[in-house]
Amino acid sequence: MSTLYIVATPIGNLDDITLRALEILKSVDAILCEDTRVTRTLLNHYGISKPTIAYHSQSKLSKVEQIIEQLKSGNNLALVSDAGTPTISDPGSFLVSRVREELDDLVLIIPVPGPSAVIAALSASGFPASEFLFLGFLPHKKGRQTLFKEIAECARTSVFYESPHRFLKALNSLSEVLGPERKIAIAREITKIFEEIKTGNVTEIISYYTENPDKIRGEFVIIVSGL
Ligand code: SAM
Repeated sequence: MSTLYIVATPIGNLDDITLRALEILKSVDAILCEDTRVTRTLLNHYGISKPTIAYHSQSKLSKVEQIIEQLKSGNNLALVSDAGTPTISDPGSFLVSRVREELDDLVLIIPVPGPSAVIAALSASGFPASEFLFLGFLPHKKGRQTLFKEIAECARTSVFYESPHRFLKALNSLSEVLGPERKIAIAREITKIFEEIKTGNVTEIISYYTENPDKIRGEFVIIVSGL
């Protein structure tokens, strides 16, 4: 029986990888990765030399079929993404669902847990985190406003990912629906040199980033406290 490991990798700091993840990356026949250059940097850092196979959001169905054939022939594979836990706002869900559908009795699918930006951000936010609503990346157009309203009405902590490009726009949309007392947290560049976690009401946060436009760079997680 072959195995497909779903391996979490660092979200910035290369030290944030488990011993088990390294052992598995060393042991598999090949590593499926989003951007082979990004994964190579990680593998080189740990002296791991394994074949890599690109699997990303644009990959065709035929690529999935090739991967399924490899598993059928007994190869063990690891799926990683550029950062964090594969399938969490990352390519991979479709592949995992296809492998489950086609090879459920023939292939073990084993998670190898580790970093994920949503969990790291929540853990340091100070907001209730036993229950939360995670929305990944919000859609750019259709349904975006409705989701902001849902977040505003949500009793639980809400979390979403945002690019620097849409960051201020997202904060402005939030300011239209959140009351002045609602707290939000911005987790930027977690585990990296310019890591920063900022909390305040939405007006305070907008002022901070308007006054410090140089900080609208890198990767962001936005957290909104519940009602
Ligand atoms: N699979 C990843 C995970 O488990 O966190 C998420 C991948 S998603 C394509 C990338 C988004 O995650 C970024 O745009 C950002 O919103 C968030 N992210 C990833 N790394 C981050 C970091 N170091 N600091 C803050 N946010 C991060």
